[in-house]
Amino acid sequence: MFRKMRRIKQLLSMEETEAVMKRCTHGVLACFGDEDYPYAVPLSYVYFNGKIYFHSAKAGHKIDAIMKNPKVSFSVIDEDTVVSEEYTTYFRSVIAFGKARITEGDEYLDAFKALVKKYSGDQPEESKQNEINKCNQAYIIAIDIDHITGKESIEYVRIKSNSSK
Ligand SMILES: Cc1cc2nc3c(=O)[nH]c(=O)nc-3n(C[C@H](O)[C@H](O)[C@H](O)COP(=O)(O)OP(=O)(O)OC[C@H]3O[C@@H](n4cnc5c(N)ncnc54)[C@H](O)[C@@H]3O)c2cc1C
Repeated sequence: MFRKMRRIKQLLSMEETEAVMKRCTHGVLACFGDEDYPYAVPLSYVYFNGKIYFHSAKAGHKIDAIMKNPKVSFSVIDEDTVVSEEYTTYFRSVIAFGKARITEGDEYLDAFKALVKKYSGDQPEESKQNEINKCNQAYIIAIDIDHITGKESIEYVRIKSNSSK
């Protein structure tokens, strides 16, 4: 049921798409908010074992929305370079669709560790472990991905094709 990209030349490979997911440090979660208004909320996340994980308070608009309807979309912008003389931007981005759920047990711990490694990997081991141990006020939410695509502007496609000649 997921749509094909119209400008298919701009589709990133799965490898490139995953690289974007791994290097970016925030994305925007879109969910079904109150009264049918879409709710798009920026978040830190980690792409781990082919899933998206993020940390969330146990109450609030976002968690209410996910509990009401787990279908979500998550988008990440890797590049957005304005090129004024060309009246465009050179961009690279990813959009994922999936279902969100609260993690538990080993998955919770592994995803939490992956988040800490991504954002505070340079901190001492003991400090990172303390941070994980003391945090019981939050959920770690997983998004099981049903569909994911990466796309880059046509200029990046041309640059890649010229450099491979
Ligand atoms: C780069 C970045 C990274 C972040 N990382 C995380 C993260 O990893 N985990 C996490 O839980 N939160 C993160 N946040 C904060 C996140 O955007 C939300 O503010 C937070 O999760 C609370 O969401 P909520 O729906 O529970 O808030 P609620 O307070 O229940 O939201 C109520 C209303 O407040 C407004 N609102 C909420 N958040 C924002 C916002 N960010 N900007 C403007 N208006 C807002 C909206 O109108 C919303 O309907 C991050 C924000 C940024 C910008």
